[in-house]
Amino acid sequence: MQMGMVLVVTSGVIATLRQQSAAMAPHEACGLLLGHGQTITGARPTANLAPDPARQFEIDPAALVAAHRAARNGGPAVLGYYHSHPTGDPTPSPTDRARAGHDGRIWAIIGAEAIGWWRDERHGFTAETVQIIP
Ligand SMILES: [Zn+2]
Repeated sequence: MQMGMVLVVTSGVIATLRQQSAAMAPHEACGLLLGHGQTITGARPTANLAPDPARQFEIDPAALVAAHRAARNGGPAVLGYYHSHPTGDPTPSPTDRARAGHDGRIWAIIGAEAIGWWRDERHGFTAETVQIIP
């Protein structure tokens, strides 16, 4: 393992992901992961605009544009995205793999039991090691 590449996530982010996932079920919840460097300090829920939101997710592009604009004005960076698999595994689905941007961003997937943390790299998703802090 490379030193310094552990992803740090606050317990508040974990709580937001679990709460929104439960509230949106059986639809998939989705949103943005915000922070700096390797530390995720915020989770911003967005609308799921997918035509079949029980099986897919599509983050509201207006929310994404607004978050990037805020980042340029000194706000937290958009480090990645999250969505839920209300009854499934916290691993990228074939649809997720087909829609990946391969841009190095983090994807959190909230499964029925666990949350999976992935990096959307050029050649595919790789599992991230996560440290949760208060
Ligand atoms: Zn998915």
